[in-house]
Amino acid sequence: MNLDNVLKIAEGTGDEVAQLTSGLVKYNSAHPDGFTDGCVEYIKAYCDKHGIENEVHANDPKKPNIVARVKGTGDKNIIWVGHIDVVPEGKLENWAYPPYDGVIADDCVYGRGSSDMKGSCAAAMVSARTLNEMESIPNTVEFWFTSDEEIGGGEGARWLAQSGRFKGDICVIGDGNGGGPYAPSIDLGCKGGAGVKLIARGQTAHGSTPYLGKNAITRLIKAIPWVEKVDNFTLDWPEGLKSAVEGSVEYYKGMTPEESHGVMEKNFYTPSVTCNIIHAGVKINVVPDYAEAEFDIRLTPGSHPKKVVDRIKDLVKKSGIEGLEVVPTREHAADDYAGYYESPDSSFADQFKAVIKTITGKPVNMKILTGGTDGISTSKIAGIPSLGYGTSLTGQAHQPDERVTIENLVLGVKIFTAFPLVYQ
Ligand SMILES: [Zn+2]
Repeated sequence: MNLDNVLKIAEGTGDEVAQLTSGLVKYNSAHPDGFTDGCVEYIKAYCDKHGIENEVHANDPKKPNIVARVKGTGDKNIIWVGHIDVVPEGKLENWAYPPYDGVIADDCVYGRGSSDMKGSCAAAMVSARTLNEMESIPNTVEFWFTSDEEIGGGEGARWLAQSGRFKGDICVIGDGNGGGPYAPSIDLGCKGGAGVKLIARGQTAHGSTPYLGKNAITRLIKAIPWVEKVDNFTLDWPEGLKSAVEGSVEYYKGMTPEESHGVMEKNFYTPSVTCNIIHAGVKINVVPDYAEAEFDIRLTPGSHPKKVVDRIKDLVKKSGIEGLEVVPTREHAADDYAGYYESPDSSFADQFKAVIKTITGKPVNMKILTGGTDGISTSKIAGIPSLGYGTSLTGQAHQPDERVTIENLVLGVKIFTAFPLVYQ
């Protein structure tokens, strides 16, 4: 089938993709539970109805994953990966529409996960159906819908990769923000993390006699700025990433207030660091003997988390504050180097870029995502080159009142359907 016909068919799928996005949003798959069984049943029912081959893969029955497969005539296998778990909704009063109602209004679908990334999953479902209805397609395509992405993929992509279930020549990650029809971009990779927990220990005492104790909270608060100093540590990412880093800086300028452009750019060359959780204290009249703080630290792909953690340990030692301990919170095989990245010059990148350029009529930027994706598992663990294009609307991921435009979703259907037809 020629590309124009395919795009014409995809153009007519707006209602279907909006309804499917809404349908997925209605199954609350938010963490901390992150149960994906409802979404998987929903996707399975759609596949069964349309005669699409599918399989459920679950390590934890409440957090299943599902793959929809369309067989091709050739021997190449393209996998598409997207996640169906979401982050919590936060305070309900910040939502104009309830987060799990999947309201369709103003040419958008509203709700938790609409942008990140049930909308993109819905677009993939429609693409699977469209490809499955064709007489023949050249490449086999597997659309994987995964759990646990928002917490590192333990029951989702990481497990699927480690257990050898991902098999493919190339992988399209459906996560992230592909810039919609106006400023299209491909993700060459994403940053990784080097989280640490800072523990302060002291000595407990009655609250009325603090001089008999050693207050762990006081120690912790004094130590936090010492951890934050790691944001001046120069990262050691590979030279070949320079153009992607520059492309990323340009891209993120568009969604960063001008006064923060400098920090945003610096954070590609040094770690970003933010203390996001503190636990301390047991009772108002007890001097605490324990306090802990957790830091989210993000690193440009290719740099080494261990060096950053070692640097933090040095800094904390230098502080001279007693009773401190630094504990890394993310140690698994995928963390030898941070995140993942692909070459901007591969045939896969050239072909993916060309399809998106043909469909949007716009030049395609290459960037690195600041957040992590399942690409870390598909690329680093399964060893499959992985490029990202997502239908998310700029600035919507993890926000209250999250929404996605139907325009972005239809563009996703076009790209996810067309690319497997032309890739060679
Ligand atoms: Zn996501």
